[in-house]
Amino acid sequence: MIQRAIDNGVSRFFVPSIDSTYTEKMYALETQFPENVFLMMGLHPCYVKPETYEQEMAHVEQQLVSRKFQAVGEIGIDLFWDKTTLPLQQDAFKRQIQLAKQYKLAINIHCRDAFNEVFEVLESEKSDDLFGIFHCFTGDFNQAQRAISLGMKLGIGGVVTFKNGKIDQFLHDINLKHIVLETDSPYLAPVPFRGKRNESSYTKLVAEKLAQIYQVPTEEIAQITTQNAKMIFGI
Ligand SMILES: [Zn+2]
Repeated sequence: MIQRAIDNGVSRFFVPSIDSTYTEKMYALETQFPENVFLMMGLHPCYVKPETYEQEMAHVEQQLVSRKFQAVGEIGIDLFWDKTTLPLQQDAFKRQIQLAKQYKLAINIHCRDAFNEVFEVLESEKSDDLFGIFHCFTGDFNQAQRAISLGMKLGIGGVVTFKNGKIDQFLHDINLKHIVLETDSPYLAPVPFRGKRNESSYTKLVAEKLAQIYQVPTEEIAQITTQNAKMIFGI
């Protein structure tokens, strides 16, 4: 799968963290593709559980101090799967933003059914050293502008190719310097693979869709979004 992606011009993979049970697998992938795979560290909001919360946060801190990561993520708030953990999710999000600042790293935000809650935490942490990506951005034009004003780039993936995805309707009003490409694989495969298992090689389809929206060559989309990613991840 990684070779197919490389053959399609996708050569760098920024892999988000979920919780401590995935850390070893991430390292194994990095060892296998040391030139291509770059890791993030963080506790995903869907894995914020009262029973394991402090232990998981300690793991994140231990990992961050022990080696180099390219970002803190995925972090954020998800009210689609579990509303009961909201206070803990808010705490995890805030603490991990502070860790990102401490280590001068970008953040990668997961936000589902929680724009107001995510913005509230971001506003409280707003500063020059807060920057990163709003991953799988699915908001409206105003939310896009608000995310950008808080130091975020918009992560655009398969949703932009969906008929009912909505973001394709205003994206042309957002400067390309605020956009990065992403997959969210195995989820959210772009058309014509919608509903199937997503993979990184399909990023090319997302770039092609953006080329239509912005009326520029696909190469220009690739070049600008790669440049944006380099700025965010520092590599
Ligand atoms: Zn996510």
